Amino acid sequence: MKPFFTIEKREGLARVGVVHTPHGDIKTPAFVGAATRATVKALTMSEMRDLGSQAILANTYHLILRPGTDLIKEGGGLAEFSSWHGPTFTDSGGFQIFSLPNVKINENGVKFKSHIDGANFEITPESSMQAQWAIGADIHMAFDHLAKSEDYDDMKTAMLRTHAWLDRCVAEHHRIKNIITSNGNSNPSSSVALRGASPSLATSEKEFEFPHKEMQYLYAVVQGGTFNDLRAESAKYCADQPVDGFGIGGVFTADGMDEMLKTVNGILPEDKPRHLLGMGQEPIDLFIGAEFGCDTFDCVGPTRMARNGSLYTLDGRINIKNAKYTHEFSPLMEDCDCECCKNYTKAYLHHLFKTDEITAKVLASIHNEYFIVHTVDKIRETLLDGTFKEYKESFLSRYYHN
Ligand SMILES: [Zn+2]
Repeated sequence: MKPFFTIEKREGLARVGVVHTPHGDIKTPAFVGAATRATVKALTMSEMRDLGSQAILANTYHLILRPGTDLIKEGGGLAEFSSWHGPTFTDSGGFQIFSLPNVKINENGVKFKSHIDGANFEITPESSMQAQWAIGADIHMAFDHLAKSEDYDDMKTAMLRTHAWLDRCVAEHHRIKNIITSNGNSNPSSSVALRGASPSLATSEKEFEFPHKEMQYLYAVVQGGTFNDLRAESAKYCADQPVDGFGIGGVFTADGMDEMLKTVNGILPEDKPRHLLGMGQEPIDLFIGAEFGCDTFDCVGPTRMARNGSLYTLDGRINIKNAKYTHEFSPLMEDCDCECCKNYTKAYLHHLFKTDEITAKVLASIHNEYFIVHTVDKIRETLLDGTFKEYKESFLSRYYHN
């Protein structure tokens, strides 16, 4: 069996490697497409493959609510159900749940009302693990507590609870893994009884069928916000756990991110991959993330901005809805090989946005996703050939020129 993560080259804290998953390899550093509800908004999975995406990340919270984890399992798991057929991640849902109004948190887990129909739900570390196994992504995130403010005490409380929940996530992950391993996992229809809440969050025991023959991997999530001492404490705690990799979570900005990542990635073991959660709307985040030791990234920003007409160029983002593009019969970016830039002009894109055509969102999303995916691919390439520093400097000075 291949190791889960292999490193080809190091430069300071930065690494070039490969994450080996049951659904294929991810060459890192890599940008992972945000497929929140098992789809990347406005893009088909074949468009995602064509633009060069290597992996997608779906959201456990959204998939529990709709269509439910049982249905995804029945469809063969996330990769098969969505026809992505490549490497997949799920985040634990914590980030979305803690953003909901009227969330009740206690030591056991989180109670909340569905944003769709107001139904009552409870998610615990155990049920989050069960849901992620049922969804069947290759890489799972531990269920973490996101602080409700940037206040130090709130952040510390959330971090300590995240650590307590991590112990339970690890125990539940290994319990499920052992059941499957002891069943030989050779029979796709083999079923096991999971104790406690099921992914559909009923309280009774429930029979589970695992459609996957191969192992799934668990990442611990490092919290601690913008406080370096908390980040260090959280990284140490996570580093000691029997997990396969690490997510670095919480809200932060490019300001101070290098110091925070130096602290965290200086502590985390070198031989396991690290995913920077929710970062990548701003290209600078990706350069800093990779330089300071992160291997994968995900963010809804690039496609969300695309749907609003805010498009990346090497000279910074432009708003294609602006009147000045009405008569510009040239590609959005001359040196971009995406489907949008190869075939269409800014004037045409401007027209599609002004008339609110669906194609506007499709073409814009193709370009923005391509731009970010290929920027990270180029980071990988330049780390390999030793020109990363020059690439970073020339890219950032041009992009943030204004
Ligand atoms: Zn393009």
